[in-house]
Amino acid sequence: MKNERMYNELIELLTTDSASGKEDAIAELLKGKLEELGFTVTQDNAGEAFGSTCGNVIGIREGELEGALLLSSHMDRVPNGLGIQPVERDGVLYSDGTTILAADDISGVCAILEGIRQATASGTPLPRLEVVFTVQEELCLGGAKVMDPSPLKSHIGYIFDSPGGVGRFINGAPGRYILKAEITGKPAHAGNAPEKGIDAAKTMADIISTLKQGRLDEISTSNFPHLEAGTGSANINVVCDHALIEGEARSRDLKKLLDYVEYFRAHCQKVADEHGAKVKVTTEENFLPFFISEDDPVLTIAKTACEKQGIPFQCAVLGGAFDGNIHNARGMATVGVATGYSKNHTTEEQLELESFFRSGDLCAALIETYAEGLARK
Ligand SMILES: [Zn+2]
Repeated sequence: MKNERMYNELIELLTTDSASGKEDAIAELLKGKLEELGFTVTQDNAGEAFGSTCGNVIGIREGELEGALLLSSHMDRVPNGLGIQPVERDGVLYSDGTTILAADDISGVCAILEGIRQATASGTPLPRLEVVFTVQEELCLGGAKVMDPSPLKSHIGYIFDSPGGVGRFINGAPGRYILKAEITGKPAHAGNAPEKGIDAAKTMADIISTLKQGRLDEISTSNFPHLEAGTGSANINVVCDHALIEGEARSRDLKKLLDYVEYFRAHCQKVADEHGAKVKVTTEENFLPFFISEDDPVLTIAKTACEKQGIPFQCAVLGGAFDGNIHNARGMATVGVATGYSKNHTTEEQLELESFFRSGDLCAALIETYAEGLARK
């Protein structure tokens, strides 16, 4: 059944321009909406870390019960998300085909606002509610990463930012390392004395052609999409003395991820040694993996909330990361909550509206189920 309130808010926010680092217009609207719902709202300076003016929006609403619950989604969207014109066909919302839809993650924002409206209107005692709308999620979880977590008292949280139908919870995601190898060879005249040179381009090619990459095992992958050789000049009569490899590795198992990082380092060194080239390998932890078992409270609450709402409960582990990776690494058990979108990050992105409306009801049920059994203050 159509929820006009959710629908209107969805259209309002989808048609408000936003991008990673340019979330200001959405942030202003959301601050006002949270204040209307009785939240004390602050905005941090997370954006400054990335040269932007917009920070994370953090809303706190003290409750009558002990305990605190985190509800979060993100305000930015991938590129091609300006001037969105939503079009509804047969209960599904699309863009007009020229842009993304940005249901990732505006649908999550709307589900949270609706859940809070329903929960506060019910008049039942509530715990402290902590709402975080992050910036720069699409740029490697930037906003969540630099956010000071000290205002948050929650031990569990729901991140409304996952593809699929309502009732689907994401209870695991890989960790990621960014990997880089800079190869230094030796220049020499290509015609007179190529044997006096050390070819960095060939070293790079040998490293890549013999490197284990792509699907490494069931839960691990790597990808090296950025290769560069030469100094950028059009001079082709000098043996190449500089090359660069950039990529990433992911795994849901931290040990496997760290093992691969070490393997990458050793492999680059071995091939470079064979060529007599120098190599500088740098590895950077981007975010850590997590997995939450189905008997963890964050998921038993989810299961009960789904039962109350007559929504089929389902857990899934995906290959992408979301703000939950950051919160879990800080010791807060958080899972992703699906809100009905699919084909996100493309112009074919779509939002199944019935699923979306139900995700608002589910958010209210999550708050109420969490509240059950909590002591009064
Ligand atoms: Zn997202």
